[in-house]
Amino acid sequence: LPIILARDQHPISRRQVDEDCLKVLYRLHRNGFKSYLVGGSVRDLLLGRTPKDFDIGTDATPNQIKRLFRNCFLVGRRFRLAHIRFAGNKVIEVATFRREVSPEELPDDPSDHLHFVQNLFGTPGEDAFRRDFTINALFYNIADFSVIDHVDGLADLQQRLIRVIGDPLVRFVEDPVRMLRAIEFAARLDFKLCDDIFPAIEQHRELLATAAPARIREEIMALFRYGIAAPVLHQCRELGMLPHLLAGYPGTDEGISMLAQVDARTHSGIIIDESFALAALYLRLFMDSCPPGRSTPMTTALQSANEILTPHCRYFSIAAGIRLQARDLLIGCFRLVRGRGQRGEQKFLRHPATATAMELFTLWTQVRPDLLPLLQEWNSAISTCGKPVEAPVRRKR
Ligand code: ATP
Ligand code: MG
Repeated sequence: LPIILARDQHPISRRQVDEDCLKVLYRLHRNGFKSYLVGGSVRDLLLGRTPKDFDIGTDATPNQIKRLFRNCFLVGRRFRLAHIRFAGNKVIEVATFRREVSPEELPDDPSDHLHFVQNLFGTPGEDAFRRDFTINALFYNIADFSVIDHVDGLADLQQRLIRVIGDPLVRFVEDPVRMLRAIEFAARLDFKLCDDIFPAIEQHRELLATAAPARIREEIMALFRYGIAAPVLHQCRELGMLPHLLAGYPGTDEGISMLAQVDARTHSGIIIDESFALAALYLRLFMDSCPPGRSTPMTTALQSANEILTPHCRYFSIAAGIRLQARDLLIGCFRLVRGRGQRGEQKFLRHPATATAMELFTLWTQVRPDLLPLLQEWNSAISTCGKPVEAPVRRKR
């Protein structure tokens, strides 16, 4: 039986819940359906954090949801989800409760398992148990404003512990991305990993290489967006996951220190582009592969940058535009590290891409203080080159 906290036994108040999300919750409830806030939003509200988005769980089927909302779109090929759209590109995701299936129900081909499992509707309890971590499986019931806990997630929230629901050995085989997510949540929330996670990762880390690249790409970008790329990739290195996660990324100390600089930049409120993240990831490897002396021709640098970026971008199906932007950032850094007085310097200084390369180079000088005098030279060159270049920086509101 689940633990249920009545409205006066927990700190969640409706005022903290997005208005449009409340409308959806109430309409489902008024029409006789179960209507819960689920997943990350309940966790974040209980922790006193601001949720990134509000997801809803219900026993209404996708078609029933569609009939209730004019602004509803059914999405997802692997499993049907309802997206309720509101002004300003806001989307509230409504998912029908799903359940885990018993082994004998599974199709013969193991690669079909995840798909099959995620298509079966279930009870709220079953829906809680198919989730990844206990703290991600809490429900907030709009019918009576209670918090429902089927998995002892409240206790783990209290103890600040990331605990896999069920046996990590099983759940990591079912979906290897959970190994990465465990480390990610621990870093984001400053939680500890439950002890049983470590041996399970050691046993199954190779499976990360079999996960859908698009999902890994998404989680890696999430690390950069949350400004936790350095600690998470550092721990992935310590746990031997890195070669299976990012085959071409060496994860040296200097490389990780560079990511810490990038994380600090993100924490200052700057929104990170994937091209910037890519260039930051591979800057150290790039610098090693073509030492930026005067004797290294630009064609060698271009070739090096391509050889480093292309396998990554091919594996993760990253668009050529992003790859070329990342390449230009690496090349920009190469020019900057080579020093002043090169041919075409004025043109280079005025080039719009140079401002972003300067940002990357500035972070790199924090890792390599021997380059600080060079940074100063470039900064004064830029301030006197006529039209000052401004990095096209986007900030969070
Ligand atoms: P965030 O703040 O990053 O959105 P979140 O907890 O909402 O955190 P999502 O990736 O948005 O994380 O996923 C929503 C919910 O779906 C999770 O809270 C979890 O319950 C469930 N979930 C997500 N990924 C998995 C997975 N790989 N296996 C099982 N359950 C998952
Ligand atoms: Mg979420």
